[in-house]
Amino acid sequence: MNFLKGTRLPHRKGTADRPTARLTEVREVTLPVQMHIGAPAVPVVKVGDSVKVGTLIAEPSGRVSSPVYASVSGKVKKIADIVLSNGKTAPAITIESDGMMTRDESAVPPAVTDRKTLIEAVRDSGVVGLGGAGFPTHVKFDVDPARVDSLIINGAECEPYITSDTQTMVERSEDMAYALKTLQAHFDFQRIVIGVEGMNRRAIRSMQEMASHMERVEVKVLPNVYPQGGEKVLVYHTTGRTIPMGKLPVDVGCIVCNCTTLAAIGNYLRTGMPLVEKCITVDGGAVASPQNVIVPIGTAMADVFEFCGGLTQEPDKVLYGGPMMGVTVPNLSAPVLKNTNAALALTAKETRLPKTTACIRCGACANACPFGLTPAAIAQAYRKKDAARLEELSVRTCMECGCCSFVCPANRPLVQTNKLAKIFLQEEKAKEEQKHE
Ligand code: SF4
Ligand code: SF4
Repeated sequence: MNFLKGTRLPHRKGTADRPTARLTEVREVTLPVQMHIGAPAVPVVKVGDSVKVGTLIAEPSGRVSSPVYASVSGKVKKIADIVLSNGKTAPAITIESDGMMTRDESAVPPAVTDRKTLIEAVRDSGVVGLGGAGFPTHVKFDVDPARVDSLIINGAECEPYITSDTQTMVERSEDMAYALKTLQAHFDFQRIVIGVEGMNRRAIRSMQEMASHMERVEVKVLPNVYPQGGEKVLVYHTTGRTIPMGKLPVDVGCIVCNCTTLAAIGNYLRTGMPLVEKCITVDGGAVASPQNVIVPIGTAMADVFEFCGGLTQEPDKVLYGGPMMGVTVPNLSAPVLKNTNAALALTAKETRLPKTTACIRCGACANACPFGLTPAAIAQAYRKKDAARLEELSVRTCMECGCCSFVCPANRPLVQTNKLAKIFLQEEKAKEEQKHE
């Protein structure tokens, strides 16, 4: 694998230097109980209940699950299924705001005395992978400490448009430092490395300043090549270690944590306020006033765009996340989720794709792939529904970064095909398992 591959993308990070705004006046919020990977949380409130900012409204239903907290004060108006961007439905709790944003007085800093209580606190904070992954963060830290020697903080933020992690690194280094000191006290990491892309000078300066007051914390300047934020790529560039296929960072002694995730943990440890708000980058050609905005989780996308001066034209596509790995927002009443880092309203000009033509076997897709995969061959194997060949070509390793599609001169839908191929393999595996039952 050659992690130095990848692709240079236009950055379009025009919001990086603009001040962050805060949206508090929302009429209502809708909080799905499934904003994370794993088992959905279970509602513990009913229609008509009064809640405050930080009140527990849904509790985790297993180890890999995460609690949900009210992000405004007011009354529970509705508990009903909504369609999520992955096409699945999940119950969501709608709270009508009383406009007061009253803090729940039970939200007090947790007592952390050892590693166990620290992991419990991370779970209770409601924090999940805020860079987009949505994996419950306490599960990542719930490992045998003898297996890990390095903590890698992901400040790569390599997708075009998105600058919300930059906002965290520039404006919330105090929360990050608090979390790092607590984690260091209970894990004894040999090194903590914060990875930031070289072009992000303000974030590098802020992180270097923070690191200068701490022990065993360093800032690693990363190449400006997409996708630096992918876990395997980041671990390689910060430690030189290669994560084998099918393995996790912990298998090479690392825990990877996004910088905004870290800040949210620090905020909870310091103040007792769980995850109830999120800074997101609002951008795209259809947005009147692009900027970073801190919003209560559950705020409707329509309200977020309205706060940013509204939409200047009908967007062709609205995305949760960036243009490379983001997913389409089903409709503008869809809420900001825990792991939403951007809301992009893109114009037809921005989303226009040239016509797809035949593969010319140029090899550009394989050259661009950070994992050395061969997307053209994968597409051929998928067309033939050849499961054995797909395994041989390691399609499961694909992190769906989109580099191959981006560079393909024939505009072939390579990343889309890889996603379908991975689903196909899962279905084949399920069929095999059924046969042996
Ligand atoms: S989408 Fe998958 S195959 Fe394409 S470049 Fe990224 S990792 Fe490689
Ligand atoms: S980049 Fe496109 S045209 Fe070139 S080999 Fe890959 S799929 Fe074919």
